[in-house]
Amino acid sequence: MDIVKEHREKCTYCGQCLEVCPRYEDLKLIENLCKYLEGNSDIDSGSLLRCLTCGLCTCACPEGLGIKPLISPARQKWVNENGLTDRQTMVDPDAENNIFAKIAEMDEIPVYKEGPGSVVYFPGCAGAYINTSMAKAAVALLEKAGVDYTVLSGIEYCCGAVSAGAGDQDPIRRNGQRNIEEIRRRGAKILITACPGCFKAFKDIYPRMFGKLDFQIMQVSQYLELLLMEGKLSPEAVLNHRVFYHDPCHLTRGMGVYREARNVLEKIQGTELANKTPETSACCGFGGGVRVNYPSESLAVASDRFRAAEKWGCDIIITNCGGCMQNLIEAGKNEKIRVLDLTEYLSLACGVKIEREDEKMLELVNRAYRLCISGYGEFDTS
Ligand code: SF4
Ligand code: SF4
Repeated sequence: MDIVKEHREKCTYCGQCLEVCPRYEDLKLIENLCKYLEGNSDIDSGSLLRCLTCGLCTCACPEGLGIKPLISPARQKWVNENGLTDRQTMVDPDAENNIFAKIAEMDEIPVYKEGPGSVVYFPGCAGAYINTSMAKAAVALLEKAGVDYTVLSGIEYCCGAVSAGAGDQDPIRRNGQRNIEEIRRRGAKILITACPGCFKAFKDIYPRMFGKLDFQIMQVSQYLELLLMEGKLSPEAVLNHRVFYHDPCHLTRGMGVYREARNVLEKIQGTELANKTPETSACCGFGGGVRVNYPSESLAVASDRFRAAEKWGCDIIITNCGGCMQNLIEAGKNEKIRVLDLTEYLSLACGVKIEREDEKMLELVNRAYRLCISGYGEFDTS
């Protein structure tokens, strides 16, 4: 059913979606979005840009609606009518202001094993250019486990999911089929993605656009769980920590994957997982373009995750997504609670050293934002 029609028929204006939403307060937004999508009124761009696309509203809605399903087509309509801004093109792999290309101009980017392999690791743009320690840790674990792997890394293989979320479908159309062919050419049986966005692209969007894929798609947490079950990785080190698992929105609510990372953590000696289910999970503040449009507000949302981890009595936050990692590291600069990616934490448990250069990473990415986006930070109200 058409999403506006569905809202008109089912929404009771109970407000439960807004009770959980970290970004909006006014119930009139639902009506405004419906009218805009029906072509009966204009809408201010702030109403569209503030959404984190976290999906909390849809989970809370008794009718399974929420605000996000209206925001996505409204963003698409806005782009169709107004064109793309540099805030949207900065994630287009072919755009002049692409942020990852800018980072590659400023820093040396890690190079990985290429060529054939029955398992292809796909670090995504965030893992290849920003959160490089997350990708290095994943590759080190594949080496340790003796997997016949290869890596498909680089801006030219961008999955296009972030651009699509920003209302630009072109990168996914341009790169999707080529990515599939590159993976087939390597003889892969399994594709492992680091980023929940790439996972959604390959698992959900590509098959709908390009037909059924002939290799299996796994998010890294799923593959690490498999390696542990098969006894190919042995986390022998004792890590005495009470950990808080931060569920990436696009993995947990978006793709229904939340158990595997917890299973991995529960296999590490000395480690106590505090939040065993995703029921109280919330957004890190990075998604939906909010990090680039409202930097201070985005980081304030991330700070709330440290307060949640504190309440659970944890000394480490573990996450499983490049965007979450970046925001949590930046918001946590002065926090006592440490932030680690799941691959990094398992690496430590398996006796693999990890390399982290948080200050350098933050300096680079913030410099790139200022270079790629005109008026960076202008919408911020904090
Ligand atoms: S929770 Fe659902 S039914 Fe209630 S106001 Fe929000 S969208 Fe409408
Ligand atoms: S997706 Fe998240 S930020 Fe967007 S409206 Fe829903 S709860 Fe609010």
